Amino acid sequence: MEPLTQRSLRDLRDAVRSGEVSAREVAQAHLNRIAEAEPSVSALLAVTADDALTQADAVDLARSRGDAIGALAGVPIALKDVICTRGVATTCGSRILSGWKPPYDATVTARLRAAGAVMLGKANCDEFAMGSSTENSAYGPTRNPWNLACVPGGSSGGSAAAVAVGEVAGSLGSDTGGSIRQPAALCGIVGLKPTYGRVSRFGLVAYASSLDQIGPMARSVEDAALLLDAIAGLDPLDATSVDAPPFRAESAMRGDIRGLRIGVPTEFMGDGVDGPVASAVRAAVEALCALGATAEECSLPTARHSLATYYILAPAEASSNLARYDGVRFGVRAAGGFGHAGMTEASREAGFGAETKQRILVGTYALSAGYYDAYYLQAQKVRTLIRRDFDAAFKRFDVLVTPTSPTVAFGIGERSDDPLAMKLADVCTLPANMAGIPGVSIPCGMDRGLPIGLQIMGRSFDEETTLRAAHAYEQATHWHTLRPEVAC
Ligand code: GLN
Repeated sequence: MEPLTQRSLRDLRDAVRSGEVSAREVAQAHLNRIAEAEPSVSALLAVTADDALTQADAVDLARSRGDAIGALAGVPIALKDVICTRGVATTCGSRILSGWKPPYDATVTARLRAAGAVMLGKANCDEFAMGSSTENSAYGPTRNPWNLACVPGGSSGGSAAAVAVGEVAGSLGSDTGGSIRQPAALCGIVGLKPTYGRVSRFGLVAYASSLDQIGPMARSVEDAALLLDAIAGLDPLDATSVDAPPFRAESAMRGDIRGLRIGVPTEFMGDGVDGPVASAVRAAVEALCALGATAEECSLPTARHSLATYYILAPAEASSNLARYDGVRFGVRAAGGFGHAGMTEASREAGFGAETKQRILVGTYALSAGYYDAYYLQAQKVRTLIRRDFDAAFKRFDVLVTPTSPTVAFGIGERSDDPLAMKLADVCTLPANMAGIPGVSIPCGMDRGLPIGLQIMGRSFDEETTLRAAHAYEQATHWHTLRPEVAC
């Protein structure tokens, strides 16, 4: 029989529910897998084995008593280390938060706990989710399970690698400009950025608050949908969460996509997109059409400004959000420095990494009195135009299909000295954050032994159609069944 660590999240849930296996056996099998694979991939910053086994035992006890158990009872998961977990260190991949234990759970953490999911650990990420490769973590890089010399993508690279190697059945990441979808693509798994407002951000350590969104990562569309089902919905603790009609995983899994209208924006298929990636995406569009959809090329003329716009807005918001790390309230307080200002300066100097410092400087500059209109305000206006392009496209199409990343995974260190090349990794994913719409990445091919991701974007709060298209494609192809062989 298939090892427990290869089975889908849904299978594991059903097996625990029926009593075929205990939640403890599931947790233990995954902890063993973690012990085996971690030396190669370094996906996790903390493994919470004791808590996990206690949680698993609680599920088994409830089941043996005939008590109701949650929708994800016994399912092993990991959370990106920017998501607060009460009493469990939450570092954001930063030295400045080393040793900080949040006194509360994020809403998503609490919802998964209530659903019976068993958290096995916290996943590595770029510092404060700033990056595209997980190389900006203060705790060292995570490696791509398909080729250990390559990056897993980022910033949710740990969440992606942990799922790809079977350390957990699913995970949560956060996506401000592509940080769920791009690592999902580079590690050959499914990653969904929900609509802005679909999932509460309470307890997600803020990077750029108008763009940040938490979402699921898993080895199939259905597994991602089940996780979304558990975490989505209005939360009085996050004023930007929305009371939208609820998302239902089952209705998204009804496979029929006959008559679905697909737009293929030409701006995402041109220069800079590697040949094998473009070919895989074209083949995927054909596969969707063979299932009864229709496809047409279209244009999102302003989308090409997304990168420039994002790298004003995200650092501007970050410079404001990160002002709270002052050496007083959280984490590291460095010795040296004179007086209050000196202490703050020394703590930030010692606590923040280079990329984070640079973003704070850029953001502060863009918001400063003389430059606000020229940069920040201008970027806000362009953001509105990008959103309008999407509104217009969604009058004609139900979903838009593009590559997730213009290339497959690159080598560790390969883009470290080339910030533009690094930022171009997100050129296809940033527009969805600008517009606030949902986007999912699913495996659609291989190039030189590394996975290629297909991005499907949908209308605001229409995760159902977006995932239905993804699920139909997945069921008709074999890409999602491929697994990396991690040398242990
Ligand atoms: N790579 C982008 C950045 O560095 C996006 C990160 C994200 O989505 N968190 O800001």
